[in-house]
Amino acid sequence: MVERGREELLLLIGALRSHLEAEGAAGNFTISSGGGGGGVTPREGTPLPAAAERPPAASPPGVRGSTAPPPAPRTIPAEQAAPGEAERTPPLTASPAVAPDLEGLRAELGNCRRCRLHLGRRNLVFGEGSPRATLVFVGEAPGADEDAQGRPFVGRAGQLLTRIIEAMNMKRSEVYICNILKCRPPGNRNPDSVEIAACEPFLVRQLQAIRPRAICALGTIAAQTLLKTGAPISTLRGRWHSYHDIPLMPTYHPAYLLRNPAQKRQVWEDVQKIMTLLNDGDGYESGG
Ligand code: SF4
Repeated sequence: MVERGREELLLLIGALRSHLEAEGAAGNFTISSGGGGGGVTPREGTPLPAAAERPPAASPPGVRGSTAPPPAPRTIPAEQAAPGEAERTPPLTASPAVAPDLEGLRAELGNCRRCRLHLGRRNLVFGEGSPRATLVFVGEAPGADEDAQGRPFVGRAGQLLTRIIEAMNMKRSEVYICNILKCRPPGNRNPDSVEIAACEPFLVRQLQAIRPRAICALGTIAAQTLLKTGAPISTLRGRWHSYHDIPLMPTYHPAYLLRNPAQKRQVWEDVQKIMTLLNDGDGYESGG
């Protein structure tokens, strides 16, 4: 009886060994018969479970939390930027490689209908002059003559502006002349805030393309709009301000001079300061 049980046990051990050898041949493990107690061990190179299946690695002593690398810095969308950052007007120092050219800008403006002034215009008055001008005159908006011809400052006030430019020892073709609005408001009324918001970005890009050394704002509306102030032209004129880092000199509008010729002396004082800046490169002290 005992002998029979011993034979069955030997058969059982042999069957078990055969099974283990078959598994080993299949590559699932090796059979060790050496010291250390032997046993079944994983084969070298047997893949580990995927990371998601693995238990988290223990943190080294003295290190809090996970040892995983820190997450990449988060990009903050513009709308989440700190207040004030988006409100700051950038300087017009864009690289020439990305700055717009005037022709491309005019083509982009096209048959503009971005505000209601397109309904009453005869011609859009984009601006004219040298694309490399050192001085840009910015007025308020086209009048009847400008609307008819599609050119800025061509009426009586424009003729006076031409004489002022020539008194500065410059030609009209050497400077650039434009307005905040490119279409005539009905009855020459003042521009409203919606019209200015629609049109001013194109003025900014014109200035970005030209990158003049100085701007002359002509009249109350131009000066107040560019400088974002309600101060009267009588206190703004005669001193330098800054528009996107470009020196800006406000002065009276030529149309105002036609009605108030006594103010021509003050305009002459203002444009002399511009001439000093352009000729000598100094005299610019931002009061704005
Ligand atoms: S005023 Fe300016 S924004 Fe308005 S329609 Fe004319 S070009 Fe367009």
